[in-house]
Amino acid sequence: MARKINRIIVHTSASYNSRKGVLDPSASDIDAMHRARGWKSIGYHAVIRRGGQIEEGRDEDLVGAGVAWANVDTLHVCCTGHGDYEDFTPQQKESLCLQVYQWMKRFGMLSNFKKNPFRILGHDEINVLVAKGLYPERAKTSKSCPGRKVDMGEIRTMIYLYCKEKEGW
Ligand SMILES: [Zn+2]
Repeated sequence: MARKINRIIVHTSASYNSRKGVLDPSASDIDAMHRARGWKSIGYHAVIRRGGQIEEGRDEDLVGAGVAWANVDTLHVCCTGHGDYEDFTPQQKESLCLQVYQWMKRFGMLSNFKKNPFRILGHDEINVLVAKGLYPERAKTSKSCPGRKVDMGEIRTMIYLYCKEKEGW
């Protein structure tokens, strides 16, 4: 049986080099970085590259590692680059719509998302849920992930419109 997923959290890989600008690591690069931190494997369930390619991360049936204390009922998706320096590319946004739609369909989240688009959150928006008492204080993050250039309102609207078209809402 598929595990119960209540939300999908969007991340940036925060990959930036002062000489090269934003970087585009692959899922296997990120996997290596996360293993080096002592994690079992890549913490995200999918990685979306700057060109829009979707790469598989941790198995969707396994709990990921993206936000401490908020992983059990969550899927994590990471767009490469660095959201404090550059927005996600249009191709990444397009692929994000597709990936999130497919997950919501598979995990039976579509009707809940239709009622409450905040089933899709940027990593730092977890703080809003902490403030509402939905997650423990320790789930709070000081990171700006998915980044100051990324407008989660815009992303939620794009995903909503994508689902609306696919589902005929
Ligand atoms: Zn993050």
